[in-house]
Amino acid sequence: MEHRADIGIVGAGPAGARAAELLAAKDVGVVLLDPKAPWEKPCGGGLTAHAFREIPELAELESVARVVTSVRVETSPEDGFSIPLDHPIWMVPRRTLARWQLDRALRAGAEHLSVRVRDARRAHGAWCLDTSDGELLVPFLVGADGAASLVRRVAAPGFDVELAPTRVAYPDGSGPYPDAVILKFYPGVSGYLWDFPRPSHRSVGVVIPNRTWRRPRMDGEIDEYRMSSDGRTSTGVQRAGAVIGTAQLGHGDYSAIAGPDFVLLGDAAGFADPFTGEGIQNALRSADLFARAFTSGDPAAYPQLARRAFEWEFRIGRLLRRVLFDSGAGHRLVRGSLESKGWCALATAILNGMNEHDGRVMGLVTRWARTYRALRSVPGPPRRTRVPATP
Ligand SMILES: Cc1cc2nc3c(=O)[nH]c(=O)nc-3n(C[C@H](O)[C@H](O)[C@H](O)COP(=O)(O)OP(=O)(O)OC[C@H]3O[C@@H](n4cnc5c(N)ncnc54)[C@H](O)[C@@H]3O)c2cc1C
Repeated sequence: MEHRADIGIVGAGPAGARAAELLAAKDVGVVLLDPKAPWEKPCGGGLTAHAFREIPELAELESVARVVTSVRVETSPEDGFSIPLDHPIWMVPRRTLARWQLDRALRAGAEHLSVRVRDARRAHGAWCLDTSDGELLVPFLVGADGAASLVRRVAAPGFDVELAPTRVAYPDGSGPYPDAVILKFYPGVSGYLWDFPRPSHRSVGVVIPNRTWRRPRMDGEIDEYRMSSDGRTSTGVQRAGAVIGTAQLGHGDYSAIAGPDFVLLGDAAGFADPFTGEGIQNALRSADLFARAFTSGDPAAYPQLARRAFEWEFRIGRLLRRVLFDSGAGHRLVRGSLESKGWCALATAILNGMNEHDGRVMGLVTRWARTYRALRSVPGPPRRTRVPATP
């Protein structure tokens, strides 16, 4: 294949398409390789309030998103409580997000090739990519090819990412709480089930640490949830599975995500949140950081920029995972919140803090106090009432 690109980007998901757009806008020659894009990548498609603050262009998606204003946390359809969000979460089908991103990248001047990269090797001071449509030479390689990244395997063979398996189903129509995200927690299991409303359908899925449940059990939990919540089976409903690449980078050493002639972005670098598994925003952020480093003439600065942006968030995410999931305290917190206004205020404060990426202890305390005051003014335990929105 004849191409004179400065950079080859493998993967046109949130990370790759964003990097392509930003680099092409600065006159960098970009070739973006992805055989599926734009496609419905298995995902919840939830974008937090913080993502919209950080990337204002995302507001263009408002008309095609489902805006969610509360979260229902439950252990069963009967045992649950609803938390109002201080700022909404937006649910965007991944095909819609991918189409929007790819169009922006193409308008900025990037070239998209609908090919799969089968292998990559260094040859004559460049990368030789073996694709489903022949070979291609690029001087610099960007691995934005998701959690099971081929580029990571080839360019950074010693660097491992923790892979969290998921299963997801896409039933049509609305669920039992059309304007809410539903999160269901299980006793003794570090993971959860989600039910996210989208404009015309829902994304109902399970994320769980590796080797906890096998695929039939995960599908079974989704079926059981659907039967008990809206009385429907998932027969004939489209299902998919995928892994999430969660952060393993510790002790501030981010050097493995880059080399003189390559970088890893998004899930390929393990940038999904180790607690929630959310990774769209971090994929976009990692692309912003790399584009900034590359266009300022110092691509080697990318690992440091990424460390500064992510290190504390990942530490907090890992801590929350240990404290709330691995120890079983999260399930106890949910059960306690059904009866106790103090615990319910804590769960509310944690969820709103996560939506805004606010890991400050003082932020948590202020939110807790605000919610607790509002809850005390309502009679009855949290499971029988709705947590009032706080000013
Ligand atoms: C079931 C599920 C639910 C999730 N829910 C949420 C959520 O609600 N909110 C959230 O923020 N995050 C969520 N995540 C995580 C989120 O999907 C990822 O973090 C995010 O998509 C990472 O973006 P990315 O661009 O790094 O990789 P991806 O989105 O995985 O994109 C990688 C792209 O690379 C392409 N590709 C792969 N290999 C090759 C190859 N060899 N050659 C060419 N192209 C290739 C693929 O086709 C794909 O388009 C979820 C993940 C899963 C699995």
